[in-house]
Amino acid sequence: MTLSTTGSQALFDRAREVIPGGVNSPVRAFRGVGGVPRFIASAEGAWLTDVDGNRYVDLVCSWGPMILGHAHPEVLEAVRSAAAHGFSFGTPSENEVALAEEIVARVEPVEQVRLVSSGTEATMSALRLARGATGRSVVVKFAGCYHGHVDALLAQAGSGVATFALPDSAGVPASAAGETIVLPYNDLAAVEELFAARGSEIAAVITEASPGNMGVVPPAPGFTQGLRSITAAHGALLISDEVMTGFRASRSGWYGHETGPAGAHPGGYEGGAPDLFTFGKVMGGGFPAAAFGGRADLMAHLAPDGPVYQAGTLSGNPVATAAGLATLRGCTEELYPRLEGTARAIADAASAALTAEGVAHTVQWAGSMFSIFFRDGAVTSFADAQAQDTAAYGRFFHAMLEAGVHLPPSAFEVWFVSDAIDEDALETIRAALPAAARAAA
Ligand code: PLP
Repeated sequence: MTLSTTGSQALFDRAREVIPGGVNSPVRAFRGVGGVPRFIASAEGAWLTDVDGNRYVDLVCSWGPMILGHAHPEVLEAVRSAAAHGFSFGTPSENEVALAEEIVARVEPVEQVRLVSSGTEATMSALRLARGATGRSVVVKFAGCYHGHVDALLAQAGSGVATFALPDSAGVPASAAGETIVLPYNDLAAVEELFAARGSEIAAVITEASPGNMGVVPPAPGFTQGLRSITAAHGALLISDEVMTGFRASRSGWYGHETGPAGAHPGGYEGGAPDLFTFGKVMGGGFPAAAFGGRADLMAHLAPDGPVYQAGTLSGNPVATAAGLATLRGCTEELYPRLEGTARAIADAASAALTAEGVAHTVQWAGSMFSIFFRDGAVTSFADAQAQDTAAYGRFFHAMLEAGVHLPPSAFEVWFVSDAIDEDALETIRAALPAAARAAA
């Protein structure tokens, strides 16, 4: 039986007339897997319902934010109550302070944060601050790490870009990307070599705390600590991008994460804390809220007190901050073992089904975040991640979708779980797997 997609198809046709590619963010277009993206009419708990009435267990979670599940009653109540008092004031309000306090309390090296509306704004602003504070202009990033669509950071940027097989984006002038140096991930020798040659020009190294945008590729033991000591020795800043891992890998993000469910990779920063952090996704609870932050002496370079300009009409929006606060309050110590247990149950079942059909695959972890690469062997770099059978993933994806499970529509993404996944949702996933593995074989 094939699910009806008449309604989604009709909306997609309308959308393509007025929105480029029919979507407002490219990976939603299903180009990596083919077919018609599902237009969602409503979402509750672990489930999405599309405009044709099909229901799917959601393993995308809006690409991370919906950690408590959709329309969580306490978040919904916080949003209703905030909205009833007005939508945006353009002047300070209490929830912004409370959300900043909550982040500062959770991530110990962060003394101050500035709230913004997207992860892209957070990394863009952190870069400007790093350049302003150091008086240097060169920035180092790693291949396969995505930090939003910031001009200077759209070089070998993983997921969306990898899916479209574009090494870079048109429209980014050489002058904007020319001060960005891209190194292979997990290759400390390359970082050492670069710093030995150009250390005094480098403002910052930016890295995903534990990359998820080439699929989950955790830092090798010692890699992050090495970045810390090399940058410190040369007066450069280390920016830890926790837009994806923040408040998802643990209550305090990757910074507070010690071991994944496999116990295989060290988190935390024994070698000293990063200078700046960026956050997004979970901290907005599904609304546009993000942040960058760090030591107070660095944050003092920002306007209005300092010379680095940064601003936003909707920054600290009262409804978004209410949603973020209610979500973070649901992100308790007890949540994370539960999420990891759910993730483990899904990954184990998927791996067993793929093994039964002889499909090459590797599961990799960062807390409850995991990816299944359709290849054998450990994936430690973007080059490894690209060497997988994306066509097999596409067949697997569509068989799962047909059976009511919404996976990321790209082989280079994280499978995100929410706390709303219950036995019923797990059963739907387990029931879908054998046929999907057969399709992939
Ligand atoms: N940084 C990381 C690690 C991300 O995963 C993302 C988005 O996926 C961003 C930055 C950009 O965030 P946004 O899409 O909110 O601009």
